[in-house]
This record gives sequence, C-alpha cells and structure tokens, in this order.
Amino acid sequence: MSKDRFADIVVNRPVEGPFTYSIPEELEDAVKIGSCVEVSFGPKRLTGYVVGLSPDCNIKNVKPISRVLDRSPLIDTHMLELTRWLSKYYYSTWGEAISAAVPGALKKSLNQKRRVSQKEEDIPEYIDGSDTHLAPTPEQTVALDQIKQHIDDKNPRVFLLHGVTGSGKTEVYLQAIGHALKSGLSSIVLVPEISLTPQTVARFKARFEGKIAVLHSRLTGSRRASEWERIASGEPCVVVGARSAIFAPIKDLGLVVVDEEHETSYKQDDVPRYNARDVAIKRAELAGAVTILGSATPSLESFYAAQKGRYVLIELPERIDSRLMPEVEIVDMRDELSRTKKLHIFSASLKSWIDKDVAEGKQVILFLNRRGFSTFISCRKCGHVVMCKRCSVSLTYHFHSKKLNCHHCNYEMDPPDICPKCDSSYLKYWGIGTEKVESEAHRFFPGARISRMDTDSTHKRGTHEKVLSKFKDHKIDILVGTQMIAKGLDFPKVTLVGVISADTALNLPDFRSGERTFNLLTQVAGRAGRSDLGGKVIIQTYTPGHYAIQAARTHDYNSFYGKEISFRKDLNLPPFSHMVTLNFRGRSEDKVLKVSESLRNKLERKNKSGKIEILGPAPAPISRVKGTYRWNLFLKSDKVERITALLRDTIGARRRENGIIVTVDVDPY
Ligand code: ADP
Ligand code: ZN
Ligand code: ZN
Repeated sequence: MSKDRFADIVVNRPVEGPFTYSIPEELEDAVKIGSCVEVSFGPKRLTGYVVGLSPDCNIKNVKPISRVLDRSPLIDTHMLELTRWLSKYYYSTWGEAISAAVPGALKKSLNQKRRVSQKEEDIPEYIDGSDTHLAPTPEQTVALDQIKQHIDDKNPRVFLLHGVTGSGKTEVYLQAIGHALKSGLSSIVLVPEISLTPQTVARFKARFEGKIAVLHSRLTGSRRASEWERIASGEPCVVVGARSAIFAPIKDLGLVVVDEEHETSYKQDDVPRYNARDVAIKRAELAGAVTILGSATPSLESFYAAQKGRYVLIELPERIDSRLMPEVEIVDMRDELSRTKKLHIFSASLKSWIDKDVAEGKQVILFLNRRGFSTFISCRKCGHVVMCKRCSVSLTYHFHSKKLNCHHCNYEMDPPDICPKCDSSYLKYWGIGTEKVESEAHRFFPGARISRMDTDSTHKRGTHEKVLSKFKDHKIDILVGTQMIAKGLDFPKVTLVGVISADTALNLPDFRSGERTFNLLTQVAGRAGRSDLGGKVIIQTYTPGHYAIQAARTHDYNSFYGKEISFRKDLNLPPFSHMVTLNFRGRSEDKVLKVSESLRNKLERKNKSGKIEILGPAPAPISRVKGTYRWNLFLKSDKVERITALLRDTIGARRRENGIIVTVDVDPY
C-alpha cells in the first residue's frame, strides 16, 4: 500500500472545502483522519480538520500542513459523518460544523500540559443527590420493555415519552440508561440548561456515581478537556449536558435522552444553527442507538411525527401516586379593570390566595416573563416613547440601578426628567417587570419574606444557588421570577403559582406564540402542588379565551395539539413544511432592502418548479439592533434539502452580499 501523502482539510470559515495539503514527512505518523491541524490559508494560519487522506493528488503547488495540534484525533469517522450531515442540513460549511462539535477551549487546552487532576472537586451544588432504583409502575414497565428491547437490538427508533411533570419520565430515563450500561453501552442525556435543572442532574449523579460526566458551561477549559478525554477513553459512561454534549466523544452509544425536547434552548443561535434534538436523533441513527424524547408538552413537530408513526409514542398519563394536577384558575383582567377602574398587578383572587397560603406557612411562586421595573416610559402630552438609540425597542426602567436599559444591546442611560421631544414633564412609567412585581409584593404582603430571581438578580456567581437554597429551606415565602424559575424546580411546600400575565408570550409576532404560551404556562403550573399539600395556579390574562390558555387550564395537551395542528395545516406551517429564514443585516436600511429584494428575485428565477414559497422581504420583529437594520426573507417548502439546494446554487457559502451580512437559519425559532 502506498503512503498517504495528501490530506483533505476543512477549515472553520465560510468557504466550502475540502482543500488539499501535502503531509510533510516528519508528520506522516501524526496526521490521521480527524486530526486537528494548522494550515496556511491565503495570508492566514487557520485550524483545520483532516477529513480524507490519499496517496496522490493532481493539483500542483500543494502547500504542506504546518503542524498537527492534537496528540490523537479529536473526532472519529462517526463524528465526521455526523458533522457532514449537520453542515449540509443546517447550511454551514463542514469545517464550521466540526468546530461546533469540538469546543474551542477544548482544542487549546488539549495541547497544553494539564495541571488539573482528574479528581478535581465538582462545583458544589445546593442539592444533594439521594436516589434509589424504584420498582417501575405498570406504565413505566410498558415503556421500558420496548425501549430496552430496541437498545438490545441496536434498533435506532425514536420514542416520544409524553407525560406530565411527575409522571415518572426521569425514572424511565434512569432505568433505560442502567440497562444500556449493563450491556456496556453509554448514554447521552441532554437537558435544556444545567444550572436550571440541578435537581435532575443530582439524580443522575447519585444513580450513576463514578460513571457520570457532567458537561456544563462553567467547566474550565482544562476540566472540560479532561472530561472529554475520560469519555473518549471508552469506559461505558453517562454524559449529561446541554446542547453541545450531543457531540461528546462516546464510543459505544446505546441511548440518547433529550429531556424537555420542546425547549428552544436546544437551538444554537450561531453558525451552525443546529437543533440539538434533531442532531441527537441523527447521531443515534448513525450509531444504532435509541432516542428518547421526553416532554409534558411535546413540540408540534415531534407529536406529529409520532402520530404519523415515525416515532413511537409512549404516554405516561398520570402522576406517580395519582396525585392530582393543580387546579388552574383563569382571571380575566379586563373584568378586574372595569370593576376596580385601576390597573392592579395582583387581582383580587390572586391577592387573597397569596394572603391565605403565606399565612398557612406555605410557599408561593410569582411568574412574569419580563424583567425590570417599568417596561417603557412615555410622554402623556405628545405620546413619545423613550427608545434605545440603537435598537427599535423601548427602554426598560430598572429601579435597583435607577437606569434605563435596553434588553437587546444593553445600552444604559439615566431616565430623562422631561420629554426629550416636547420638553413636557409629564413622563409616565408603564408596563411591569419582575422588579415591579417584587416591590409591589412587598407593599401588599408586608409580613412575607420575598425574593426575586431573574438574570438581573443572579448576575453574581452563586446567587442563583443561594436563592434556591433559601427557598428550599423556607427562608423565603414568595419567590418572584422569570422563566428561570419555570423549569425543573421541585419544592413540596409550593402550593400556589401566580402567573402575573400570560400575555407576554402570546403577543410575540411568531407563529409559535401559542405553543410557547401553552408550554410556559404548563411548565410554571407544574411547580405547584408537588406534595400532599395540593396546589393552585392562578393565571392572569387579557385574552382568557385563547385556546392555549384554556388548554393550560385543563392540563389538556391533546386539545391544545388538536387546535394548533389544524391552524398549522391551514397555513402550511411546520410541521407541514420546513422553513428557512434568510436574514440581512447592515447599517444602511436602503442597502439591506435592495440586497434582500435582489436576492429574492434571483431565488424566484431559479425556483422553476415553484415548489418553494418565497416570502418577504419583511422587517425582522426587532428591525433595528445596535444600529443595524434587519430584514428577513422566508423560504418554505416540504423539504429542507430543496431550499438549501437553491441557496447553494444562489449564494453558495457566502455570508455577504454587497457588504450586507446574510445569515441562513434552517428550521428557525
Ligand atoms: P418526571 O420526570 O415525569 O417529572 P419523575 O421520574 O421525576 O417524573 O417522577 C416523579 C416522582 O415520582 C419522583 O419523586 C420519583 O422519585 C417518583 N417515582 C418515579 N417513578 C416511581 C416508581 N416507579 N415508584 C415510586 N416512585 C416513583
Ligand atoms: Zn412629549
Ligand atoms: Zn439597544
């Protein structure tokens, strides 16, 4: 066999490769498929990945590889295949996809001598894991039997495990993982965000002590690298992590679990814009592994796939111990307004329930999906709204800092005393955020111990854990927060959840707003009544008739799904079609518009079969951010591949057109 003297290399840039380089003699042993190397690329030196080797090449003047950056390849052939698929589907280059799979910090620290020992202590967590294997219920047994059989057969089916919070899904994951381990197979568990799901993570740790690798964002680069190497060493293990853990270098994969599969945080919002749930399914397919998607509120895409028989649907219809779901009361804030002639943060009903539960020594969660004190300031005389200088959004007033703050670019300024437009002094502060809810709660419930949890209050490291720990020890009676407190928390003394406004998510200009609202309300409601003390949920809204709110009231996923799916079908929206968004960004709105229009025309001309629907250009929901204008084109078709083929033919790997930045988002959120 002749020696491989040439390597095909892809780089982390928006240029399609692979590019051919020669292998210098002294690197012959070090360059392998999957190796991470340094190459000169035009005037630059870039990191690249070897995706192919060959003994000869018919290009002249091939440049040599400069050096090899890893001791052994970071990626195997499976991972090459997965990233290849990812790059094609999500419209990035192969090199960009590989770079996303191998985090940057990791690449660097693998090359340094590591000083950290493998036994380095974990970041302490506020919850201790205690956990035992439980005898499965009949429903869990049905689920587990099928899942185990498929693991044994290496049959890469996707199971959609649909069950309310507390129905025993996690126990199913744990036992399926245990089964895989017994056969020497590893598992990956994806959770939306490690820091927001400490209780779940603690359970996994407790059950699989010594075999678990938790990949969270706070790991230092070197720690991450050592975890990565430990996983790659081949001992069967369980990897728990957010999004990027789906690329963990596991050898024998038996099972992938995606908990809360509907969560939008699985979508990466930078190139490559992949959805980790869908990458998980692909990875499992390539490895012959089983996938479990778990959710109380499955995404329309997943539930539809199950209806069509592409996924296996498993329902866990009841809570363990047959505990009842909390009673949900909808308060129509329009009635409230006409009755009291005043806007109140707490309706009469919510107020009396808070009074009662706090008096009885129980705990309350108040939820509002908006931070800050007042969400906008406007002039009573001329109607002027104080906006961000750089973005097309109003500025939010923060009481603690006494500043106006832009939630999109973080621009900050002192609140004006007079209207910047007409000089009148009639400036009024409108709209409520969590800071206001907290301060009003202090006013209305003076005896109660109240805390707030949102990204403003938990800026400092460890505050998040401290607040949760205090809440757990019942040193807090009322916890006010954003979606940060909507997830995963399991506190038995929480008997009341108040949703200050259900309308914040509903009013977003997005076809998924109904789905988001239903998911969020269901999730928040799930924080109440997790013990024998029972539970009550109060949802305040100006649109009580909306089906997402009504379905949340009766905890009825099927009714929600029925309404939502027919709406999607009528408008040919996902899951009946796939969408791709083309976003155009630039400092000159004129130019942004011109470029997007001209590209639209080009696409239209090449769309001969007419099988792709092209909509827009339309201004993005927030049409100006940091002084940059944003317009969108939407492409819709039955298959993503149809759209990406058209794009390859039109813009290729380019990310700029006449100075305007163009980004492509496949299956956008
Ligand atoms: P989910 O993930 O659907 O929220 P969990 O698996 O966390 O549900 O189960 C909810 C609660 O019921 C947990 O406290 C768990 O320990 C308990 N549980 C789960 N399965 C069983 C079982 N088979 N027998 C007894 N208790 C169980
Ligand atoms: Zn004015
Ligand atoms: Zn701004």
